[in-house]
Amino acid sequence: MRVPTSPTPAGPRPDAMIDELRDLRLLSLVENGTGLIGYRFHGPLFDAFEALDGALVALFREEYRPTAHSCTTLLEREALESIGFFDKLPSIPLHAVPHEIAADQSPGPSAWVLSPSTCYHTFGHLSGIDERWDLRCFTARGVCHRFEPSAESTRLASFTMREFVLIGDADLVVSRGESMFEQAVAFLGRLHDDVSVKKASDVFYGERSEVTRRVQLARGVKREVLIPWAGDELAVGSRNLHRDLFTTVFGIGPNGGPAMHSACVAFGIERLLLALLARTEGHDPERLCALISTALAESSSAVHAT
Ligand code: ATP
Ligand code: MG
Ligand code: ZN
Repeated sequence: MRVPTSPTPAGPRPDAMIDELRDLRLLSLVENGTGLIGYRFHGPLFDAFEALDGALVALFREEYRPTAHSCTTLLEREALESIGFFDKLPSIPLHAVPHEIAADQSPGPSAWVLSPSTCYHTFGHLSGIDERWDLRCFTARGVCHRFEPSAESTRLASFTMREFVLIGDADLVVSRGESMFEQAVAFLGRLHDDVSVKKASDVFYGERSEVTRRVQLARGVKREVLIPWAGDELAVGSRNLHRDLFTTVFGIGPNGGPAMHSACVAFGIERLLLALLARTEGHDPERLCALISTALAESSSAVHAT
């Protein structure tokens, strides 16, 4: 890629690569007074975005045979209330949909919110299903919205999440969720030599006490995969165990007998793209696309060799 020779104008974001990509019109920022809303990717950079998302889906296609589905942007507020979202994750304030575009036009909190995660759509889709199975995988890509104002160029109000949701027998969900996450880490490791994994504590269920936080940490209920970015580490994906919280609240599986459990493996595509591109020679999206194809081919031959 041509690297601009003229000095990069001082943009609102500190990251030199982002300024460079803006100069090349491969990326534009969507901003308002409170900070960065999100990114628009153009041309070859959008192709790399799609290649990355497509590679994640391809990586798991043969082994997990995920059923794919689409998502809406809006989610019923009630669905989030029923799983205790507002109590348990107060650190993720949501964007309520303004009344003028909400269906009910009534005063008070809107009946709809902008979806903060993709897996709620999966659970909503399966809600009330009267079947039990050993293990099934579902996948969807959704635009997610979280109002967490920050000066960071990677904490967006609107971002894209690719999720894989595993539902089934409690032990299988844990063991296959773990191997899925490990496979993703290995794949990313082929694209970047400094990928790391750590336990995280902003888990969904349990009380918000320090003791519970430590217990959750020790149990490894949430694990994150991180890639260096701007002198720090950036969480580009996570593996979350939900036990039977979502399957119970959404009524997934027949009454009676042990409840099915669920887990999700989720990736933030904007963060992944930027962190991988930062390591790619010349910050060249076409080069990154080629690297993604090679890494995917290597990953699938590694699976076949085992
Ligand atoms: P963080 O620890 O950075 O707040 P998270 O634990 O809240 O992330 P998850 O809920 O696990 O994130 O979402 C899965 C992935 O979605 C994250 O690993 C990250 O790549 C991406 N993601 C989460 N929040 C944002 C955001 N505000 N902007 C961009 N990407 C995000
Ligand atoms: Mg967060
Ligand atoms: Zn999820």
